[in-house]
Amino acid sequence: PTIWGGPGEPLAVRQSLEDRLGLPVVVVNDLTAAAWRYVHGPDEPPFCLITVSSGIGSKVYRAGEVLLDAEGHGGELGHWPCDPSPGAPRCDCGGRGHLGGIASGRGTLAAARRAAHADPLGYARSALGAVAPDPDRLDNPALVAAIRSGDPFATGVLRSVLPYLASAIISVFTSIGIRRYILMGGFALAVGPRYVQLLTEELERLGCFGLDSDGIRRMVTLGAPDDDHGLIGAGRLLAARGAGLGAVPAV
Ligand SMILES: [Zn+2]
Repeated sequence: PTIWGGPGEPLAVRQSLEDRLGLPVVVVNDLTAAAWRYVHGPDEPPFCLITVSSGIGSKVYRAGEVLLDAEGHGGELGHWPCDPSPGAPRCDCGGRGHLGGIASGRGTLAAARRAAHADPLGYARSALGAVAPDPDRLDNPALVAAIRSGDPFATGVLRSVLPYLASAIISVFTSIGIRRYILMGGFALAVGPRYVQLLTEELERLGCFGLDSDGIRRMVTLGAPDDDHGLIGAGRLLAARGAGLGAVPAV
């Protein structure tokens, strides 16, 4: 939906590619593949991979598989309606108050624009106002640079959306006990360690039932700072499955 706005007609990608290439083809969801990048062996402890880019996505890995139901449901934390208020921001899928519409890179940029319109003077004095006097012309690179440089206005914007992401993480933790969260995605990786720090502060503020501060501080880490997650992960997935391509999940 981030690209096309909604679901389309089913497309038989695997069959179509096999017909053209004459080779066996495996189709795997981009985040499922990315999760496999972080599986270093059969004893890899469970984790949740979360991507924060133009949208938000997630996948949980546990005991040799990425957890999905037979029809492929799961791993769509970005479309969790975390803000039920009627005026909540719209998600790219058309829904309202979805996590991805609020806390993704795009969502955070929209939050910055709303903050600018609500506090024009504060915005004008901030690092954001200096590079984009018109908030509607503000872009993500400027927002990321301002957060990284410690600009209070930009940091406040990020802090305003992180409680939603922290709540999502806490709900996964409290429901199924996953304690490791690996962040990837252009926005989170661009903000870098500061993103992990602010998110962890929010997790500590909200609390994770049964975990002390040390435990909470170990929950979130950054993924590799590149764009190779899916490629490397798809390789690991195939290696882990050996030649038994039939066993590879289709979504
Ligand atoms: Zn949505």
